Amino acid sequence: MNYRRLGSAGLKLSELSLGSWVTYGGQVGEEVAVKCMSIAYDQGVNFFDSAEAYAGGKAEIVMGNVFKKLGWARESIVVSSKVFWGGDGPNDEGLSRKHIYEACRKSLKRLQLDYLDLFFCHRPDPNTPIEETVRAMDYLVHQGKILYWGTSEWSAADIMRAHELAREYDLTPPQMEQPQYNMLHRERVEKEYLPLYREIGLGTTIWSPLASGLLSGKYAKGIPPGSRATLPGYEWLRKNTLSPHNIEKAKQLEPIARDLECTLPQFALAWCLKNPNVSTVITGASRPEQVTENMKALEIAPRLDSAVLERIETILGNNPQKSQD
Ligand code: NDP
Repeated sequence: MNYRRLGSAGLKLSELSLGSWVTYGGQVGEEVAVKCMSIAYDQGVNFFDSAEAYAGGKAEIVMGNVFKKLGWARESIVVSSKVFWGGDGPNDEGLSRKHIYEACRKSLKRLQLDYLDLFFCHRPDPNTPIEETVRAMDYLVHQGKILYWGTSEWSAADIMRAHELAREYDLTPPQMEQPQYNMLHRERVEKEYLPLYREIGLGTTIWSPLASGLLSGKYAKGIPPGSRATLPGYEWLRKNTLSPHNIEKAKQLEPIARDLECTLPQFALAWCLKNPNVSTVITGASRPEQVTENMKALEIAPRLDSAVLERIETILGNNPQKSQD
């Protein structure tokens, strides 16, 4: 395993990491989580991602129980959570000082930890001034409850504003963003955030590197039983992501993976790893075998030379650097 710095911070994250969205506390239980997390940890994964919203808090409970059961040294892992969707009450969601403070305490309790390494604002909150959010995060840092804070799916302009406010008032600035990034979804990471890597040393912990499993190629011949697209509540996945256009792109990429002597998921993850502005690729898995397979992407990444990358661009046709605007 290689480790990358979280942008300009001293913290080092494994290039591949593991998340708990959809899976823990929902699609699969603790037994599967123990196996998946153990395989990942044994391969050198140090970063485990969760959020208050995942399975209504159950994902954090599962992860916390696994940490406890496996007894890993706290220093050997980097644990994150995210605040935004905490419940139904008027103050149970968003990025107010109140919800940030309460969400952090509840996440720590569910995870059975004293502090979070990373704490993300899961979405921008138009109903809270950015300054209130920056001050609330800074307060948690000073309390020793979180070490770094960041954003998820914020615009570059809002991240920059948060950074400027932090600098102006001597508060802790955001260090990282958690954006979607995969072969079918590139604009933000490859274009919009470019100035932020240079100017504020932004790190990125990218999500859905397989576009929810589409880039594993498994949907080429319909929807396999037990896959994410069969789960209740994921109709949007079937409607949006599993479009004929996207399924066709995945099919066209297969021959390149074959030429590289790897599977399509390994190839798709390796492609994400090639971007130096990605601090870590957060993988997801509903089965231990998927973790084992996906970890091998690390060996594949060096095989993606400029000729291979050019072949990929020809198929994808969505390079943000080549778009007109
Ligand atoms: P992926 O796009 O990699 O999708 C993972 C899913 O794809 C798995 O659960 C599994 O689903 C399928 N899969 C994985 N590996 C294979 C394989 N080798 N062969 C076949 N199928 C495979 O990542 P996620 O969408 O899960 O996102 C990763 C993490 O990112 C999340 O767990 C979460 O921590 C974070 N995230 C953050 C968000 C944010 O807003 N900040 C939003 C979404 C995710 P199945 O077997 O069920 O079909």
